[in-house]
Amino acid sequence: MSPSTAPATPALSELDRPALGALLRDLKVEAYRADQILDAAWRSTAATWGEVTTLGKPLQAMLGAALRFEAFSEIVREDAEEGATSKLLLTLHDGAKIEAVLMRYPADKRRGSGPRATICVSSQAGCAVGCPFCATGELGFTRNLTPGEIQDQVRIARRILRGEGRDLTNVVFMGMGEPLQNADAVLAAIDGITDPKRGGIGQRRIVVSTSGVVPGIARLATVRPQVTLAVSLHAARNPLRDLLVPLNRKWPVEEVIAAAAAHHRTTGRRTTYEVTMIDGINDTDEDAQALVRVLRGSDAHVNLIPMNAVAHTPWHESTPERIEAIAALLRAAGHSVTIRRNRGRDAGAACGQLAAEQAGAPAPAAVARRRELLVTASAAALKGERTREPIAPSGPLA
Ligand code: SF4
Repeated sequence: MSPSTAPATPALSELDRPALGALLRDLKVEAYRADQILDAAWRSTAATWGEVTTLGKPLQAMLGAALRFEAFSEIVREDAEEGATSKLLLTLHDGAKIEAVLMRYPADKRRGSGPRATICVSSQAGCAVGCPFCATGELGFTRNLTPGEIQDQVRIARRILRGEGRDLTNVVFMGMGEPLQNADAVLAAIDGITDPKRGGIGQRRIVVSTSGVVPGIARLATVRPQVTLAVSLHAARNPLRDLLVPLNRKWPVEEVIAAAAAHHRTTGRRTTYEVTMIDGINDTDEDAQALVRVLRGSDAHVNLIPMNAVAHTPWHESTPERIEAIAALLRAAGHSVTIRRNRGRDAGAACGQLAAEQAGAPAPAAVARRRELLVTASAAALKGERTREPIAPSGPLA
């Protein structure tokens, strides 16, 4: 964060345990209070210092002056799917808005698993990658999140679930932003959310999803080998992937797949590949065959995800029949495949959609121009032509 955006008062989650201990020493507060503070922050339903009754009023006031209880100045919650999904629109201290999505799943007797709850967190406000099917990509990039701003999305999820008598079981970095373009903060946040005194989430229950930052994949394998890697592939042919994931110009399909394979060899963890299914763009049998070719020899899992409608693209989701046909081709080649539902569509499901609405609509002429460019560029990509320049977002932050 640049000094100009640094808040006057840090948030509690920005401090690791030694830093919290040092602050308490400066304030002449007993060291044992550190555990009380972390317990209140991570294991109670308290949302303000005033609600942490174990501290007493003088200490509440002293801590309130020195530390913000959490990183957000406003939390707006929208529930969908009869309460199974909660979408959180979170305002940061400088006014930037991010999203996190909490998804609750019932127990699965067939698999012998209990009820689960997953929080999908953002790692950046906006995103610089600019995938044209993504509401966040359309928004443009504001800034990286700090470790505390990432951790506090997890903390809020825990607090909401605690009020329901449930526990958080999984964390996925699949919200706004490219996590491996903010790797230092993401890795520091993982330290926080896996700390038994804080989030207490096992590394194996964390997924980092990347659009293909090759050096970041290697780093993740070395420094957090238990964390699951997901790769947002979306297309196995370079001309199409150049368009769908502009980072492909820097790290093309073959390099991304090789990096994921090396990650698998180092960690033993199975890679998940995600493919957003876009009607008439990446859902032909030829696309499935290209996927089979690039994944040959890997035991990767493939998630097929119907595209969420976003206003600035001329594209929409593949038909269920087409998605089933692609899944069948991949399964016939020996890959395990899941067809994912998009959770919380009625709460502005596409990641970045709520934040984009808040940021204000881009000019209609800019949207129309972008749709035209995407039609032309996708026609060229489908003919195998590689586009030279990514298509710039038309969104309000662009
Ligand atoms: S899909 Fe992911 S990497 Fe691509 S623009 Fe959206 S948030 Fe960024």
